[in-house]
This record gives sequence, C-alpha cells and structure tokens, in this order.
Amino acid sequence: MKDLRLAGLSNERSIIKVNGVTIGGKEIILMGGPCAVESSKQMSQSAETVKKAGGKILRGGVFKPRTSPYSFQGLGKEGLNYLVQAAKEQDLLCVTEVIDTPSLELIADKVDIIQIGARNMQNFELLKLLGKIDKPIILKRGLSATIEEWLLAAEYILAAGNSQVILCERGIRTYEPSTRNTLDLSAVGVAKELSHLPVIVDPSHAAGRRDLISSLSKAAIAAGADGLLIEMHPNPAEATSDGSQSLYPEQFVQLARELGTVAGAVNRFFACGGQGDEETLETLESLRIQIDGIDQTIIESLAARMQIVRKVGDQKRLDCVKDASREKEIIQRLVNFGTELQLSPELVKRIYPLIFEFAVQSQIKTKLAKEKERERDLSCYPIGSK
Ligand code: PEP
Ligand code: MN
Repeated sequence: MKDLRLAGLSNERSIIKVNGVTIGGKEIILMGGPCAVESSKQMSQSAETVKKAGGKILRGGVFKPRTSPYSFQGLGKEGLNYLVQAAKEQDLLCVTEVIDTPSLELIADKVDIIQIGARNMQNFELLKLLGKIDKPIILKRGLSATIEEWLLAAEYILAAGNSQVILCERGIRTYEPSTRNTLDLSAVGVAKELSHLPVIVDPSHAAGRRDLISSLSKAAIAAGADGLLIEMHPNPAEATSDGSQSLYPEQFVQLARELGTVAGAVNRFFACGGQGDEETLETLESLRIQIDGIDQTIIESLAARMQIVRKVGDQKRLDCVKDASREKEIIQRLVNFGTELQLSPELVKRIYPLIFEFAVQSQIKTKLAKEKERERDLSCYPIGSK
C-alpha cells in the first residue's frame, strides 16, 4: 500500500502506554461505558461495573454526532465532568469523542484518550489537529471506509506528529440489514499486517444488538484485537442513545469473566476484576478456567519451542550444541520482558536453565541418532561398492 510512510509495518509493533495502561501489548484492554453520558449517577454506576469487570477505560460520549439533528446531541462540558469524575472514583482512564475544534479544546487536557468517530474518520483538518496533541487517539473506521482509507486517515495523525494512534474496527455498511453494520473481523488482521498500530474492536456499533456482543467480542480477541470498546448502560431501556446495543451491567461482567479463556487460547491475557463475597466462588471458577487455558498455551509453546530447537540442532556441530552466551542473553531479555509484566525475575532465571538443559539434551540425542543412521548407511554401502 502506497503512502503508509509512518503507519506502515515496521520491525516492531506500536505499544501505547497511557497512565499505567498498555495498549498493544499482551494484555487485552477492555473499555466500556454508555454511548452517551447522561448523569453523574449513570457514570458512577458505569464506572463501578467497568472496574468490577477488570476494564481499564471508561467510555462515554459528551458530544454525540447523531444521524438525526433531532436526536440527543450530548451534555457537552457538564457530561465531561461526570465522565472524568466517575473514572477517577474507580481509578480508571477515560475516553470520549471529539467532533470539531471547540470540542477538542474543551476535552484535550481532561481525558486520557481521544476518540474520533466513524463519521469523522476523514475530517482531515481535525486529524491534523490531533497530530499536535500528546494523547492517544482511537481512530474509528469510517462507515464505508476501505482499510486503505482508514490507514491513510491514521497517517494524517502520525504525519502531523502524534504517534499514538489506536485503530478501531466498528463495523462497516453492507447490504445485510439484520445487524446495524457488518463487523469486519478480517480488517483486524489486515490492519495489523499492513501497519504497526494497535487495533481494537467495537462490537456494539457493528452489531447494533445486545445479543451478539458477547460472541463478537470473543471472536474479535481470537482474530487478534488488542482490546474491546463495548457499550454498557446501567439501565439500557432508559438510554438516550444506543440502548438496544448496550449490555446490562451483569452481562458486561459475565462477558469479562469469559474473555480470559479466549485471550489465553491466542497467547494473550485478560484478567477479570471480580469483587464481593457472592462472586468469589464464581470468580475462583472462572479464574481457574483461565489458568487451565494459559497452562495449555504454555505447554503448546514449549512443544513448539522444542521442535524449533531440534531444527536448530541440525545446523550445529555436536561439539557446539551448548551456547552459554546466547543462553545468558535470552535469560536477560526475558527477565526484562517479564519485569514489565510484573513477573518475578527469579522465576525466569530458574525456569529457563531447565528449558535450555532439555533443549541441549534433545539436540544431542537427535544428532547422535542421525550420526548412527549415517554410519549404518555407510556400512551398508562401503566406499568403492557399486
Ligand atoms: C460511539 O462510539 O459512540 C460512536 C458514535 O461510534 P461510531 O463513531 O463508531 O459510530
Ligand atoms: Mn453509540
């Protein structure tokens, strides 16, 4: 693809760190909250649910670019205060959408992440302004935008100086009327193949119906999404916008309980919050399911490692199978990586020598077996024989 000078694939994927939250790393980041901020109570309740679910970021629109000019347009500054306050109460980050220069000026210093909605994906002047801001930007894919147009929109922000862009697939318009839009899950893989940017998925605006959110969210993680942006409302029936696609708080928490297993299956992780005595049992059970999934992934990864190790062995001489300086270098790299994920360096230092020992043994065994085979072949066909 032409012109992806900054968004295009580079050696390393972008990892966006914002006030203690890392987007684009191993952890799946859950963001949730109502479509529109309506009241202080609504936002406090939403924040409580997001926290309980293990979510990291509270969403809520205060400027609503509605299809009809007669629909609720958002509470503006008043809503912003409710959003910021509620996020603070639960130690969450917050994200809201901007629609123009005045809304950007109002929120820029107050929120942690700025969202550009689907309808503004190609508002190039606004994108250029976002390039001057030192905050991560969630850039939603336009209603009918191709992946190329979406990535070029991201390029506008990057080219103007802001490297913190998070792409968000939120469904595209197709001929299918049974869902509000069609969630284009292949876009996650394509966007990640063509760019280094993190990609999250918003299943709510894609489906437009609450009953599909749970399965689409899991599918999004399986497809490689780095996070989810989900609409949830303390009382969806009363919501001023998008009530029918908003999850009930209990559904949001239940979904979060199920995400860890899917995340584990694709070598990612997600930890559901879980609070209160009543939930301890269920949480314990769901945590164990997550652990089982992760254990399976660990064994699969070890098996895959050993297979490669054997191939490496084929290329080494028997007397230099063990490479102590490379082992040291690997351990150091993994200690640093593990520390970032709050893993004890001791654990890495104790596990890895064992893995190396087995790897070396396996290489020696395969090499000796191959040598024996060759000797046998040679003795069957001695030099000079016909
Ligand atoms: C939203 O997130 O509330 C929203 C309006 O989404 P989109 O721009 O994807 O329609
Ligand atoms: Mn909405």
